[in-house]
Amino acid sequence: MAFKKTRYAPSPSGFLHLGNLYSMTLTATIAKKEGASILLRIDDMDKVRAKKEYLQDIFESLTFFELPWQEGPRDASEHEDRFSQTSRLYLYENFLEELINKGLVFACTCSRSEIEHAGTHAVYPGTCKNRNISLREKNVCWRLNTSEPIDIQLKEYGKKTERFLLPENMHHFIIRRKDGLPSYQVCSLIDDVHFGIDLIVRGKDLKDSSLAQLYMAQLSGLNDFLNTTFLHHPLLLNKEGHKLSKSAGDTSLQYYRNMGYNKEAIFALLNPEGFGS
Ligand SMILES: [Zn+2]
Repeated sequence: MAFKKTRYAPSPSGFLHLGNLYSMTLTATIAKKEGASILLRIDDMDKVRAKKEYLQDIFESLTFFELPWQEGPRDASEHEDRFSQTSRLYLYENFLEELINKGLVFACTCSRSEIEHAGTHAVYPGTCKNRNISLREKNVCWRLNTSEPIDIQLKEYGKKTERFLLPENMHHFIIRRKDGLPSYQVCSLIDDVHFGIDLIVRGKDLKDSSLAQLYMAQLSGLNDFLNTTFLHHPLLLNKEGHKLSKSAGDTSLQYYRNMGYNKEAIFALLNPEGFGS
């Protein structure tokens, strides 16, 4: 099976770390094998955490590790001028409008702690589903009504198609945040459709997100997306056995570059045996 296009989708919310390098290297390897082109799509909708230096770091890292891409911005200024998610806000908003017109959206005023107290393990129990809160109210998030059970078919790279129901932690997932911006699930889905992505390589921690996006695509008739193939790869863990995170400052690529490690020495750290030692 050959694929047309895959993507790197880093966000400028911290310095890239070894886990990001692993994911992008795997993407590049599979793209080459499948003859797919690579889009660089920077997920910058979260303006609160985004910083210029983090944006710069994405380009420096790709260049340092000689990771190729054929589509998308060549540098930070081109990203800001032409490729920022802000420039596609109208696409996300049109999509939200369509969901509203289908009667699939409700407003929710619950705080995080209210949800933790109402449900188990932060599963949203649908508290506001029948409360008819106006979507135009301030300080509400918008949720997708996921009451309809949908048979989700997930094509995992190199495996048979598997069938799932929407996982519990994704019930009535958020599609517009309290700050009025479209959620990650919406931006990611709409961008992948917009750019014609047919192969998505991402960490296992995002598998539930993939299912949520497939659910939403099926509800809204985005049929091309239903044929997307996914590769959910294992995550690199730190010495304590936790997933690497940008906010914790774990082992950033920049740290190793500044320490004078060359490309090969950093790639060698991706071997789980050698990692962190
Ligand atoms: Zn609620």
